[in-house]
Amino acid sequence: MFEQLGLIGCGLMGGSFALALKRAGLVRRVVGYSKSPSTTARALQMGVIDVEAPSALLAVSGADLVLLAVPVAATETTLKAIRHLVNPDMLIMDVGSSKRDVVDAARRVLKLDIGVFVPCHPIAGREVSGVENADVNLYAGRQVILTPIDRTLAAKVDQATSLWRGLGCEVLTMSPEAHDAAFAAVSHLPHLLTFALMNSITGQADGKDYLSLAGSGFRDFSRIAASDPQMWRDVLIANREELGRQAELFQQALAELQQLIASGQADDLERLINRASHARANWRVSPGAR
Ligand code: NAP
Repeated sequence: MFEQLGLIGCGLMGGSFALALKRAGLVRRVVGYSKSPSTTARALQMGVIDVEAPSALLAVSGADLVLLAVPVAATETTLKAIRHLVNPDMLIMDVGSSKRDVVDAARRVLKLDIGVFVPCHPIAGREVSGVENADVNLYAGRQVILTPIDRTLAAKVDQATSLWRGLGCEVLTMSPEAHDAAFAAVSHLPHLLTFALMNSITGQADGKDYLSLAGSGFRDFSRIAASDPQMWRDVLIANREELGRQAELFQQALAELQQLIASGQADDLERLINRASHARANWRVSPGAR
């Protein structure tokens, strides 16, 4: 049981975390701070937080648990704003979708205090953002990936693990590098592709008419294109090296298929489609996938 959660970023992820923590009886009170006072006021009105803080530092004052639920590009400024109150009794976590940049920011800012920071990525979320979409069940049954570094204190990793398990999550641990490589392939590239697909269709003179004819296959494929632009801008840039590698591999695979289609090599084309179809049919949806 934590005495006080200092929540920085009272949006979808942060708000859902506070609600889930309260329901699980794992926290006595939640003090929240967000960039816009109107967000914090709404969070208070919704019962997501118990007290509004006028700054990140004041949200952390007296907290034994701190959650950073801000866009990944805001991690460094946020840590700088709170670093004077970071102490060994505190557990600090984040929920950012990229991890190497978050860990680098924490190294730069927290220095010797970095042991209390456990980087986390819950594989939960939605295309909508904002506290008004906070959902007490968002994390239940989902995977959470912890990416501790050599200086992260083992006791803090254990504490973070118990906390996420207390919210009904399955906890996995990997390095920030392994995390970013994997999520470039299975999350960041798919988002990039759907953004490009929507733009390529809507950029055509008849694009709107084409979209009006699209069916459920298109709906399933393009769902994630409706994601929050600011959040995804930050994630794609933060993980640009791994994403660049995945984009190149994808372009090679696309070029190979295009070449077989152009030359009418039906057997080879079928072989490649068969390989993809087989892989998809045998893929087991992880608990983190919606
Ligand atoms: P969100 O709903 O937009 O919430 C972000 C919150 O952070 C907003 O309340 C925003 O305040 C606040 N904020 C922004 N910059 C800030 C700053 N400098 N200082 C303090 N607060 C600041 O976004 P979200 O979906 O919860 O995403 C939060 C984090 O979760 C991101 O790092 C993202 O990568 C990660 N994540 C998201 C998903 C998903 O599916 N959405 C899944 C996994 C991980 P205002 O309301 O005042 O602008």
